[in-house]
Amino acid sequence: MTNPKAPQEFDPREIITIDGPAASGKSTLAQRLAEALGYLYFDTGVMYRALTWLALQQGISVEDEETLTALAEKVPIEVTPPSKRDGRAYDVWIGDQDITWAIRHPQVDAYVSIVSSYPGVRRAMSLQQRRIGLRGKVVMVGRDIGTVVLPEAGIKIYLDASPEERARRRFKEMQARGEHVEYEEVLQSMRERDRIDSTRTVAPLRPAADAIRIDSNDKDIEQVLELVLHIVHSQKRENL
Ligand code: C5P
Repeated sequence: MTNPKAPQEFDPREIITIDGPAASGKSTLAQRLAEALGYLYFDTGVMYRALTWLALQQGISVEDEETLTALAEKVPIEVTPPSKRDGRAYDVWIGDQDITWAIRHPQVDAYVSIVSSYPGVRRAMSLQQRRIGLRGKVVMVGRDIGTVVLPEAGIKIYLDASPEERARRRFKEMQARGEHVEYEEVLQSMRERDRIDSTRTVAPLRPAADAIRIDSNDKDIEQVLELVLHIVHSQKRENL
């Protein structure tokens, strides 16, 4: 991905990418980091989820790459500041429909990795993500942000944890929202998503060569945040 080009005044230190598998803690970390630095928090998974949700609504088969690619090129996804105090970090809209929670449905979880494996879908989504990222002062979260979408970012984090620990976290979140799920189901769905995300031919999930890898198995969010803030501040001092 070389287009659009980075603007002249572009400061790579003001672009932070956080990649990693589902429920590794990326979103919470990114949100807190963005708050602490006064940067924009942008969760790119939302875009793939919104497209998957729309396809399911419209009865489009997740096998129909051509129709999904055409849809990805025109779907008006909006991510705006939260309009409700129900635990959301932002609103997600398609047209006048608030789909913030609908995109977290297990059915979307089950199909989103298939939809996001199509090259044309990724091209359309990545282009929009890159435009937003190149404005700077951003913490962008996903699977391929440090490797493909914003390879020139100055700080790249790859956050990981074991599948069991990640499934446990996701299970607790779902229970808190009143959803009836089994832990085993969550674990299995997560393993399947990891498998598809890391083996697809275009932009697979993997750490960038220059990413800092953090294992969050035995760390809580405060410890991970402290570590990353330390990295950000020491990078700024080094480059003064
Ligand atoms: O991060 P989240 O779990 O919400 O992402 C949902 C799905 O969207 C991932 O499992 C992956 O298939 C896809 N995704 C992607 N590239 C990104 C972000 C998400 O392929 N940058």
